[in-house]
Amino acid sequence: MLNNLSSKLMMLLILSPLLSGCIFSADKLGIEEDYGIPGGLALACLRSTEYKEMILEIDYESGYEPNQETLNLLKQRLSDVCDKPEGITIDLQLTTFDNNGTWDADEVRDISKETREQSALNDGVLRWHYLFPGGKYSDNSVLGVAVDASTVAIFLDAVSDAENCILIICRPSAEEIEKSVTIHETGHLLGLVNIVYTSDIDHEDPSHPNHSSNEESVMYWAVETADIGNIISGELPNEFDAADISDLEKLASGELVAHSQLWIS
Ligand SMILES: [Zn+2]
Repeated sequence: MLNNLSSKLMMLLILSPLLSGCIFSADKLGIEEDYGIPGGLALACLRSTEYKEMILEIDYESGYEPNQETLNLLKQRLSDVCDKPEGITIDLQLTTFDNNGTWDADEVRDISKETREQSALNDGVLRWHYLFPGGKYSDNSVLGVAVDASTVAIFLDAVSDAENCILIICRPSAEEIEKSVTIHETGHLLGLVNIVYTSDIDHEDPSHPNHSSNEESVMYWAVETADIGNIISGELPNEFDAADISDLEKLASGELVAHSQLWIS
């Protein structure tokens, strides 16, 4: 217990300066032991030793239902990397969040606890929780956040503002951004990049810790920012690249060691 706590505190000390201004609230990282840090349930997803089934609970506010294409892609990307022989199911629910329209990481955490149907680890089922609320993050340039081991929020008002339209042509469109941001935050729940492990491939952007240096990876830092349309030229990535996939495969096999796990076997 003590060792576990000290390693979390060490992580906190190491990550705090790196993550300020990024997607995580660094001051809270790792403090809530039950909920963990992003990547804390990576092995529970990547392996099927105990959790053979996965449910993605998608809670959205009226007017903020994610596109079916986004949900299909989310399920596909997770099916590609996680071992869930009993399947991955989407549980879509219209929800009212008790919030005034401005969010921060603590509010996402607290409201997630109030609205989730079950805890993340429950009777052989791994459950990740996605919030699609109205309103924006306190930093308006943030399109999505991963706040603990199982919780993500996507801010579709900010996603709409980030689309880049000239007359009627939008590149990227809000639909494309919604897909990419959803997969990007999911990548953080899988521990990408280097959140709960150290890759044997040099693909973390030193200027943007826990993000890929490859503009063609969905884990590229700009994917979750409002300037996405100006920074990424060409098609918006919505896939993990070869280095991301390699990390996930090696975490699954044990070749790379994962720390800060809420479940390990
Ligand atoms: Zn990110």
